[in-house]
Amino acid sequence: MGMTEKKNIKELYSTRGISEAVYQYGEKILGGLEERFRKVDEVAEFNQMKVLGAMQDCRVSEACLFPSTGYGYNDLGREKLEEVYAAAFHTEDALVRPLIACGTHALAVALAGNLRPGDELLCPAGKPYDTLEEVIGIRPSNGSLAEYGITYRQVDLLPDESFDYEAIRGAVNERTKLAAIQRSKGYQTRPSFGVDEIGELIRFLKEIKPDLICMVDNCYGEFTETKEPTEVGADLLVGSLIKNPGGGLAPIGGYIAGKKQYVENAAFRLTTPGLGKEVGATLGVTQSFFQGFFLSPTVTAAALKGAMFASAVYESLGFQCVPGVDEERHDIIQSVVFGKKEGVIAFCQGIQAAAPVDAHVVPEPWAMPGYDSDVIMAAGAFVQGSSIELSADGPIKEPYAVYFQGGLTWPHAKFGILMSLQKLVEAGLVDEKDLLI
Ligand SMILES: *Cc1c(COP(=O)(O)O)cnc(C)c1O
Repeated sequence: MGMTEKKNIKELYSTRGISEAVYQYGEKILGGLEERFRKVDEVAEFNQMKVLGAMQDCRVSEACLFPSTGYGYNDLGREKLEEVYAAAFHTEDALVRPLIACGTHALAVALAGNLRPGDELLCPAGKPYDTLEEVIGIRPSNGSLAEYGITYRQVDLLPDESFDYEAIRGAVNERTKLAAIQRSKGYQTRPSFGVDEIGELIRFLKEIKPDLICMVDNCYGEFTETKEPTEVGADLLVGSLIKNPGGGLAPIGGYIAGKKQYVENAAFRLTTPGLGKEVGATLGVTQSFFQGFFLSPTVTAAALKGAMFASAVYESLGFQCVPGVDEERHDIIQSVVFGKKEGVIAFCQGIQAAAPVDAHVVPEPWAMPGYDSDVIMAAGAFVQGSSIELSADGPIKEPYAVYFQGGLTWPHAKFGILMSLQKLVEAGLVDEKDLLI
């Protein structure tokens, strides 16, 4: 950028409420991230070619973008989109549907479709995502897998957060039918798993029991690396379209990709036995599913850069960040520990103030159903609850951490982080003098 553009952009930021000190601090931090950003761009380039290649090989045509209604028989676009997902994720088949309400629904359908009474589900790498507790019946719930006679076993990670191979060997038995592995840490403190790490675990599981179905919860992980877990042995891959693979454009939906038989089992549960993948009108969302998938590699890269920038800014100011700025990333989630409630609130209010929608709204902590403390959420999203869009949330309890993710474009993610820092300065939680050195 030339001097004049620099001055102009500083003025633009200033009109939006960013002080000179905050802006300059951001620029200084960014200077140290060039190499990391270059690597993110390389992954995006690889994945862009992967997705584009899948679309060309599957011969996506204009007619694939048209909607279907009613039963949705012979929906060309839906069938082609599922072929594209299968090609990009290296699987035999895929189910990619607006009928899948969210990530939890996709996971529940994959589980219920492939487990039968008397089978056992194994989580070999610790507790699954919170919302799955009721699906599985870890917390008793109406209609859970437990009520259908499907039992559950869990092997926790070792204290150093590695897989407890010995305990896993002991846990697999004649009833173990499916192993579920979650790539992203979700709201836990463990690191997220890399694709190669997941591959090692799957290899180990298959050695003990070759016909064990290995399923990976891929939420937030798509396109953060050049490989997906189905390229290292996963039989089923599950995720949400209002996270990475929807590219910010999908207004709803989820996917289940994997071995043909297992995807069919899931389809028989999503619709009905017999009908399976043959029904399910797409009502005009197919074009945004294709286009969002096409954009997903670069949108995911924008979110990764935002997460790295956040960790670099806040780590340099002395706050604990997970992952740290120098750690490998396997998902788009960044957590920052503020240690006090006011920090969580100021951060989230900054993210909200940077949003394209509802920026004038000031979020406050409130008692949300399903949480054991008040929670504050910042989301000025085009798609409700979309967390590939710039968003943050924080439970108001120890250790007072925020979870930050998304950003459809890197400049927007950058502005969001600057705004969060601005709010921390205004709340007296970061001293502006510390930004000047
Ligand atoms: C978001 C998420 C889910 C659940 O998705 P919802 O769309 O919120 O139902 C499951 N697992 C992980 C790891 C997630 O990040």
